[in-house]
Amino acid sequence: MKNKQLLVAAVMTAFLGISCQEAKTGISSEMVTEIAKEVAKEMSMSEAPIKSIMSADEQANMTPDEIIGRLKKGNENFQSNNLTKRDHSEQRVEAMIGQYPQALVLSCVDSRVPVEDVFDLGIGDIFVARVAGNIENDDIVGSMEFATAVAGSKVIIVMGHTSCGAVYNAVDGTDAASLGMASLQKLLDEIKPVVIAEEGVEISSKNKPYVNKIITDNVHKTVADIRLKSPTMKSMEDSGKLKIVGAVYNMETGKVEFLK
Ligand SMILES: [Zn+2]
Repeated sequence: MKNKQLLVAAVMTAFLGISCQEAKTGISSEMVTEIAKEVAKEMSMSEAPIKSIMSADEQANMTPDEIIGRLKKGNENFQSNNLTKRDHSEQRVEAMIGQYPQALVLSCVDSRVPVEDVFDLGIGDIFVARVAGNIENDDIVGSMEFATAVAGSKVIIVMGHTSCGAVYNAVDGTDAASLGMASLQKLLDEIKPVVIAEEGVEISSKNKPYVNKIITDNVHKTVADIRLKSPTMKSMEDSGKLKIVGAVYNMETGKVEFLK
């Protein structure tokens, strides 16, 4: 369907382009392209919504790499503001039978990171675990073991994000305990091991290149901690049944950068 829209848009672009040139209307080719894009978008909006959800067969037949590919494509849709239309009422009813999600995404709690939208996914597609600073703990790893070893998901994505308040406070050494927030302090202490002093580098959340590096390092740490804490998931990964990958969501562009 999308290919058809692109074809129509391309034909319209060509047709209008020629017409405009012949008639010397003064309409630029950029304007024609914009009109064609709008038409394609309108047609996309009128597309029938998806009513089904991920089935057991679909989940069983996809490899971890295929799932990551699908998530990347979904993120491209999000970046271009072209999310798939879904009939949530129909999907909700179908999901009563069971769930066969492809992946689990561990994200920060940040309200500016709408995980399902970021990957253009809906009901029954992914598990989402959220905790400030996307750290791991026993409950999070237990949820991941359920998602993978029990419920059949084949990908775990630990997704940090730019402008992360939890990482900023860990970098700045905020003393949450003295402010009566011992639990928040415990959480910040999980991030602190990656906040390493570097010769001539300002250790401050105001230092954007440094803090962005810590955001990435914190994701790598969580991925490593998950492997250490769960022999089950480690062995699933070693046998190719599971992939645990790190990623960083860029709030400015909407792009999810998958880490090596
Ligand atoms: Zn955050």
